Amino acid sequence: MFETLTGKLQEVFKNLRGYGKLSEANIADALREVRIALLEADVNYDVAKNWIDDIQVKALGANVTKTVSPGQQIIKILHDELVRLLGSAESSLQLSGSPARILLVGLNGSGKTTTAAKLGLWLKSKGRSPMLVACDVYRPAAVEQLQTLGRQVEVPVFAQPGELNVPRIAEQAVRLAEIQNRNVLIFDTAGRHQIDEPLMQELVELKKVVRPQEILLVADAATGQEAANVAGRFHEKLDLTGFILSRMDGDTRGGAALSMNRLTGRPIKLIGTGEKTSDLEVFHPDRMASRILGMGDIVSLVEKAQESVDAEKAAKLEKKLRKNEFTLQDFLEQLEEVQRMGPLENLLAMIPGAANVKNLSLPEKQLTGIKAIVQSMTPQERAHPEILNARRRIRIAQGSGVTVTQVNDLLKRFGAMRKMMKNVGKMGKMLGGMRGAGGFPGMPGMR
Ligand code: GDP
Repeated sequence: MFETLTGKLQEVFKNLRGYGKLSEANIADALREVRIALLEADVNYDVAKNWIDDIQVKALGANVTKTVSPGQQIIKILHDELVRLLGSAESSLQLSGSPARILLVGLNGSGKTTTAAKLGLWLKSKGRSPMLVACDVYRPAAVEQLQTLGRQVEVPVFAQPGELNVPRIAEQAVRLAEIQNRNVLIFDTAGRHQIDEPLMQELVELKKVVRPQEILLVADAATGQEAANVAGRFHEKLDLTGFILSRMDGDTRGGAALSMNRLTGRPIKLIGTGEKTSDLEVFHPDRMASRILGMGDIVSLVEKAQESVDAEKAAKLEKKLRKNEFTLQDFLEQLEEVQRMGPLENLLAMIPGAANVKNLSLPEKQLTGIKAIVQSMTPQERAHPEILNARRRIRIAQGSGVTVTQVNDLLKRFGAMRKMMKNVGKMGKMLGGMRGAGGFPGMPGMR
């Protein structure tokens, strides 16, 4: 799914990530590449253009004072906008009627009949009692196909062979559903190879009789922006409530999924991901966006970093480090910052290529132990560790539930670190440096 698009975007990001600073020119370059990738993925031209224009404005106005790199920030903006392009949030099916009525429409071969059966099975698994209704009366094979699929998924199928009056079939189906306590009706309607007026008219008539809560267009994702055009035409006539994209498992380039919502304002609700009747999934715009970008991890990393670490603070800290004014209080704040970002292991796992630097991280309980010691110190002691004489150290050990040796150990290593830090500028290097100094105070037995 979307492999080509993802590959292209990753190329763009590789360059973006390398930039220390983003200028109007390199943002424009990167976005031009993104736009080409979208057009190659068969995204509608206007959709791609407007979307990129929006992003350009956002990227230039982005507040770049945070510690994440500007390139990473652009990736995050792209991700968020991609989620919006795909429809923002999941859309559930409206099933409030009794029985609830779902009209499936679409061109021949779009996967409509298969999707009717998939939907029946899916609703059954959600505790509903669905019934399929065969309204594609022009193709006897379509009725048989629905009956076969219905048997497979053990969902009853209502069909009236020989009856050509589709609204009448629908009425009878609703009546039977009431008698048999079926609470969702799924209408498989006739398709055409192309949109034509008589078909549309029939569907409009059927809609009047059925009064469906959902009119879902089943569209073949593999047909790219053509699917989006078809969607537009159906929507004009029928006021669709949403889409089911079939064949998302195939060589889908992305055009349909990325254009549909913007062109019609209606959400993609479900996707077909294979030929089996169980291959139906809820469409999650955010997961799809991460998948398309192939950058889900960076996005969460940026989110976390934006929540927790402020670049201004980091700059102040850097200055303190240089001037050798780094105190135990700063040290404590850093530890808290790191803890706020969640387990260090998880954080590292999110950075591409960082998986092999695992031993850089500190066990959570060591962090907690160190915090306890520093918290048992007075502000003056934290600022001037040199005043910590034996008496004070005993008090601190008692206050934090550790031995005096452990307090000494922490202070010794803090002193060594401070000395080493003197010439180190960056926070990233700081983490590395700590490791070089033999790690944070190794404190066995500390709870
Ligand atoms: P209809 O003419 O719109 O009713 O289309 P069908 O339901 O007969 O589907 C046409 C073909 O597409 C069938 O061979 C289905 O098995 C296949 N198909 C439907 N949905 C999917 C899907 O999500 N993935 C794949 N790979 N094939 C699908």
